[in-house]
Amino acid sequence: MKKSEISFDSIPGSAVSETTLEICLKCAFDFFTKQLKIAPRTAYSELKKHVPEETDFTGASTARPHFFDEEGLSHCPYCNGAKRWFAEFRAVRIDAHPSFEKGRKKLWAALKKASDRYTIWSPERNKMQIFSEWLERLKRRIDFDDDRWLLEVAVEYIKRSEPSNEWGEILKDGVRRVQLSRQVETNWQYEDGWLYVSPALYGDALMIQHLLSRSHQHGGRTFEGRLTLQELMRRLRRIGYFQAKGIDASDPFEEFEQAIAGIVDSGPSAVYYAVDRNNYLEKLKSVYEKKRDK
Ligand SMILES: [Zn+2]
Repeated sequence: MKKSEISFDSIPGSAVSETTLEICLKCAFDFFTKQLKIAPRTAYSELKKHVPEETDFTGASTARPHFFDEEGLSHCPYCNGAKRWFAEFRAVRIDAHPSFEKGRKKLWAALKKASDRYTIWSPERNKMQIFSEWLERLKRRIDFDDDRWLLEVAVEYIKRSEPSNEWGEILKDGVRRVQLSRQVETNWQYEDGWLYVSPALYGDALMIQHLLSRSHQHGGRTFEGRLTLQELMRRLRRIGYFQAKGIDASDPFEEFEQAIAGIVDSGPSAVYYAVDRNNYLEKLKSVYEKKRDK
């Protein structure tokens, strides 16, 4: 197996999400050798081809022999096998954006050459689906009881709206505040822990905060406090958001819809997955060799 590591660093971090999925090799081998009565050698060559599906990684239909190991399990949740039977797959999802498509293509060309280790695929998605999935991932990460989520989400959105590899360096001292500014020459400017943003970007951040929290107990929360949809639209109009985004609608609901459409339209347009099977293949081999040598 190739040992050369392929680096994903050329892709802006805001566009990448990683998931680690565990597999129990005892469950996997037993399925072939005990249920299907297949010889270990054949089981091994079948298992070498195995790649979990997207729905395993998203948790939509994660089933035996796959599982997530967030708490550091000591035994398989299905067969109670010991930890030494565990192996992992790492899925790297990229929400592609034209601004770094060149780098993404280059990376994919490298992955294709290492197809023994990496499996790549690109599921069909439209921009709205990509946006909704991004919101879902954020929602799972957020602690709505801790007010810092407002800042965290705003910064996350700002990074996503302008994908760049420089963000880590620019914001290395942290962001204490996201501040609306009509003076910034570009969309944003960072100074002493404050991130000054244009009305368009600030309004987008309020929209995202509202979307994320509206279904929650104390819903509709933003930097500007807890707002109904009508109040949010009034606020956005006042800060010059609609003008900046070229939104011209007759009522708050239409404004809301157009605002979302604008955010979605400027966002990522395709999804790519690379599944790293390195750990899995190595563990599989060593488990098989032990079985064979018994
Ligand atoms: Zn198991």
